[in-house]
Amino acid sequence: MTKKKSVKKPAPKKAAAKASSKASPKTSAAGKGKAKAAPVDEGPKVETRTNVVNDNLLQHIVVVRQFSKTFPTSNVWLLHDGNEAALIDSGFGDDLCIEERRKFFQGDGSNFNVRTIAFTHHHSDHTSGGRRLREMLRAETAINPLDEVLLHTPPSPSEGNADLPDDPELAERVAQWTEEALNTPIDRPLQDGETFKVGGLTVRAVHTPGHTAGHNCYFVEETLTLFTGDNVLGVGTSAIGPPPRGDMQQYLDSLLRMRALQAKLFAPGHGPTVTATDAKIQELIDHRGVRDRQIINLMEKGYLTDRQIRRALYPEIQKGLRRAAAGQVRAHLARMVGQGIVTVEEDEAEKIWKVALTK
Ligand SMILES: [Zn+2]
Repeated sequence: MTKKKSVKKPAPKKAAAKASSKASPKTSAAGKGKAKAAPVDEGPKVETRTNVVNDNLLQHIVVVRQFSKTFPTSNVWLLHDGNEAALIDSGFGDDLCIEERRKFFQGDGSNFNVRTIAFTHHHSDHTSGGRRLREMLRAETAINPLDEVLLHTPPSPSEGNADLPDDPELAERVAQWTEEALNTPIDRPLQDGETFKVGGLTVRAVHTPGHTAGHNCYFVEETLTLFTGDNVLGVGTSAIGPPPRGDMQQYLDSLLRMRALQAKLFAPGHGPTVTATDAKIQELIDHRGVRDRQIINLMEKGYLTDRQIRRALYPEIQKGLRRAAAGQVRAHLARMVGQGIVTVEEDEAEKIWKVALTK
């Protein structure tokens, strides 16, 4: 960090005392994976988990209802050394999630001095908690400058929530996430190669575009931990949209760049940590290769539009993920256009891409 905030007020100690029957995160490495249900008086049910990954890393998860019932919610990672700490991503910014984080930072997490909140990318499941956590913890926010612009750009109507299930409560929270993300102040841009310190640890920004233009991974040089954002997930594969929002070729290049770091641990944007890091990268590269071949095969069989291809590849996809699936297909097609294998003609009225193989 180049500039320091004013002296931080210590968190109230009585909250910590209340939680004293539980081992503190620092001493409960054996309690990895412990789960505790948050007390709920009324209102929506919420489940919060604090997982001790190792001596420098905690995973804080607030499980909330979102677009998909099966997809894991976004992670907030707490990297710490001594009392100094940083958050990688900030989770959702609605009252429910923020209240759960507040309980943690006034309880088990009260001795952490969080100086930095570094976002992997601008999407609201990673950034919308940022504004309120920044205030609560008196921390500096940081993001790649390309995603700082996207963070502060209102989503166009076509990127809206037309694909979401009809659910007023969810719609309201999504609106709040969007609003919070837009109003997140950024204290510091983090370009590729720039670093910040967490105690004795050095965290380096690694620009890894593809999921978004300004996606950063964060590499902890001393522990060989890589915060992978949404480029590598703990489960499943991440959604890569077509340009301008995403870029499949950049994404594949980013995976190679991530592999070259030889990280021993991946801490992803969603889902659990990954220790077989090299195999995971290979699996994701292979997955995209298989998809390429499937798409080419369908075109050879006479499929003429991206919509036909999407229906063939994802016949039973649930509502809420259809848009993402359509985006995946277009991302692959756009990359093939770049390679000179495919031509695309957009039919704006029908909202389809007419596609053809060049040979
Ligand atoms: Zn995400």
